[in-house]
Amino acid sequence: MARDEGRGRIALVTGGASGIGLATAGVLAERGWRVVIADINEAPARAAATTLGAEALALDVTDEQATEAAFDDIEARLGPVEALVANAGLIQPGAPPERLPLQEFDRVIAVNLRGAYISCVAAGRRMAPRGRGGIVVTGSVTASRTAPLHAYAPSKAAVVHMAACLAAEWGRSGVRVNAVSPGYVATPPLRAAMERGLRDPRLLTKAAPLGRLVEPEEIGAGVAFLLSDHASAITGINLPIDAGWLAGAHLTTY
Ligand code: NAD
Repeated sequence: MARDEGRGRIALVTGGASGIGLATAGVLAERGWRVVIADINEAPARAAATTLGAEALALDVTDEQATEAAFDDIEARLGPVEALVANAGLIQPGAPPERLPLQEFDRVIAVNLRGAYISCVAAGRRMAPRGRGGIVVTGSVTASRTAPLHAYAPSKAAVVHMAACLAAEWGRSGVRVNAVSPGYVATPPLRAAMERGLRDPRLLTKAAPLGRLVEPEEIGAGVAFLLSDHASAITGINLPIDAGWLAGAHLTTY
């Protein structure tokens, strides 16, 4: 780990007040990035920023105008945003398709796909003319395997594919766009699902070759790698960070 990897450059992390985003903000701050945490939930964003020596702002990533204004404000006060982690996301309520209200489907797509798109475009339109920048979107292993999450999983498949499309758009301008796909990470939404009996931690760990869940900092480490100069020739990929879960589907069958 290079402590000066970020060289004081600005990295904006959406959904940075909790879970994977918070851990990623911590890893990036440790590696010398100047981190800005943007989250709809302002109080924990500010608390996290104080702990990490970062900046915080209240932002709903589904609001295009607010997102553009946030980028303008950060760039005017601090300088160019050189990295974006488009991580804000929601899980859907567990319900079969016939019983999930359409508004819930729309809400998941609005945050996980449309919100990530808005953040990526706000970043890319500023990075491309400058000829440099890095973007990482948070996908999920459910982007490539079915799950009883018929709104969430397609939203993640779409956001991973979107990252590859944007990589193709902006590659000639020196902007790299990649996805990470976390496996099962015990952040507040997964912990709540486990407490309500909707997910069985024994099955989740049995299905992973490493026999465990993933730590949020392990996602942060992958994001930091993709944003670093070590990944200078990497764009348009989807990096699973899943304790091997995608490779281990048969472990719960045989
Ligand atoms: P989390 O709930 O702990 O964190 C999500 C953060 O996003 C919260 O701070 C929340 O306030 C913020 N957020 C939600 N809607 C927002 C909006 N409209 N605008 C701005 N911020 C908003 O959840 P997490 O598990 O850390 O999830 C982070 C990302 O990782 C999500 O995209 C999620 O889908 C993805 N993911 C998580 C897991 C897992 O096992 N935990 C697995 C795969 C993918």
